[in-house]
Amino acid sequence: MSSRALPIALIILSAGCLVAVWHMWALAPAEPPPDAVAISPAPPVAATAPEGGDAQATPPATPAPVFCPVPTRYAGQVVSNRVKGFPDKLLALTFDDGPSTTVTPRILETLREHGARATFFQLGSAIAANRDITRRVFAEGHAVANHSYSHPSSASEESAASELERTATLIRECTGHEPELFRPPYGITKGNLQRAALSRGYVGILWTISAADTDRRATAETIATNVIHTPNPGDIVLMHDSAGHGDTAEALPRILEELGAAGFRFVTVPELLDAWDKWLEADGGPDSRSTPPG
Ligand SMILES: [Zn+2]
Repeated sequence: MSSRALPIALIILSAGCLVAVWHMWALAPAEPPPDAVAISPAPPVAATAPEGGDAQATPPATPAPVFCPVPTRYAGQVVSNRVKGFPDKLLALTFDDGPSTTVTPRILETLREHGARATFFQLGSAIAANRDITRRVFAEGHAVANHSYSHPSSASEESAASELERTATLIRECTGHEPELFRPPYGITKGNLQRAALSRGYVGILWTISAADTDRRATAETIATNVIHTPNPGDIVLMHDSAGHGDTAEALPRILEELGAAGFRFVTVPELLDAWDKWLEADGGPDSRSTPPG
């Protein structure tokens, strides 16, 4: 190559690279980002304080959004039991009826401090008033799920569809993802809401442990005790983060600390379902066990 040809060749090469880079950028999917769709491993567990009590020395990891798709076999099914015999000490904490400005941020802070993830079954009416909090819930690695718009105990077919769709639209706007999980208000599984949700492919998620934090006599102490004394690996825990549930926020650090010290890790419901199925597959199938949906 002559001395004049070399710079010309470099210019052509550089232009080609720029075109290639532009092409990659233009073709890259804007939504969702690649690292948001990966099924990530369970979060780092910071629930056990380092030896020597110098927990202050290690700041909690920066939380990040995680979107773990629900295994497809659960679509249109109801989960109301854990998998019997599931050995991994995973718990799915769930918070209903939020987001609220008073309780949800306290809960998020505690979850962050302990490297814990959870699932929030939110009301459309509450999201509409607190969109920033729903955005924060998702941005900090938690799952956002549909709990209807206005928490009715019953609904006509038409209003059931509206309750689901209005809430789904708000969740989609705040998280960029279609909600996949639904929990019927009051756990009522026989009504139009649950039927409409299942027919749309939602997974109906009930719970296997209740913190009983809606009991009028509940205190932070009783709420913590209700959760700490009963879990088995794979349990789904019912709690609330609507206004007035300050006791739940107060109970959460003790729950995370004591169960974390007992070896439990806190994951979202989709992560739990995924872990159940991986275990069932690896262990030779469901023959000898009752398997959800159940
Ligand atoms: Zn509720």
